[in-house]
Amino acid sequence: MIQTFFDKIYKIELPIPFPMKTTNVYWIDEPPRTLVDTGLKTDASFEMLSAGLKSLNFSISSIERILITHGHIDHYGQAQKLSSLSGAPIYIHPKEYGKIRSIIHSFGTLRSILLRNGVPDDLVHQAIRFIESAQKMADSLSEAFFLEDGDSISFASMTWKTILCPGHSSGLVCFYWPEKKTLFTGDHLLKEITPNPVLNVPNHKPPLHYPSLKEYLSSLQKIESLDIDLILPGHGEEIYDSKGLIQKITHHHQERMAHVLSILSQGEKTPYEIAMDLFPGVPPFEVFLGISEAVGHLEILREEEKVRVKEKDGKDYYLLVA
Ligand SMILES: [Zn+2]
Ligand SMILES: [Zn+2]
Repeated sequence: MIQTFFDKIYKIELPIPFPMKTTNVYWIDEPPRTLVDTGLKTDASFEMLSAGLKSLNFSISSIERILITHGHIDHYGQAQKLSSLSGAPIYIHPKEYGKIRSIIHSFGTLRSILLRNGVPDDLVHQAIRFIESAQKMADSLSEAFFLEDGDSISFASMTWKTILCPGHSSGLVCFYWPEKKTLFTGDHLLKEITPNPVLNVPNHKPPLHYPSLKEYLSSLQKIESLDIDLILPGHGEEIYDSKGLIQKITHHHQERMAHVLSILSQGEKTPYEIAMDLFPGVPPFEVFLGISEAVGHLEILREEEKVRVKEKDGKDYYLLVA
């Protein structure tokens, strides 16, 4: 089913083999005809997009511009393929472009981050195998135009604004259409799931300092200051109560922060041990997300001098400041 907004924005849901099941891409029927995000590079995703465009009397070759919210495979996976077929230029923030280009070289860094955070050897192996195989559902980008915070995106009769919202990913951008008070958020805001601030692997410099959650929370404040009636997210349903959602997410992180502190009151722990307490029974492929969540909170607690970190046997242990 294709949903329509303002008679020119069409939401097409493309399948993904992950728990969220689908990614939303948005077809903007106004020159230059634009696709916001692309879904994965799988046959199912390509066919669904082609069928969706066809039902609107368009085709893949009608795409004149591709905007990418961030460099996660479910959002940019088939961008290169669509660009090659249609000639449409790709627009993305430079940090996300760099991340996509360097990801295949960053598995070594990822391995050392996971080990350092206390993940057992066999799970590190499984997590990396999962990410490596998922990466096959996306092509790297050859050429792209860069989108910076504040950049205008012009259409025949409307202008959007690019808003950099680091956190979930360091170069994630939202697109704001002031006239209709509408915001495309990628994974910055989702209706049913609290977006996970993901560790920034290629730019990561050991030992710590991943400010992803901190950045995420300040990006939330940035969005809160905008006048918004409608949010069109990268997964799931559209959102009308943006202020309520932002409050809910902020509250959720405060509760989780308290939970992390209560876990640490039992004694020193690695981020892996904390993640296992926060998310018991998490499958191996989600270990990386669990660690990201734990470390995001630990970083903030460390900055507030509520916890400190020490190294033991090549692993980081966190403990409460007495
Ligand atoms: Zn994402
Ligand atoms: Zn996503």
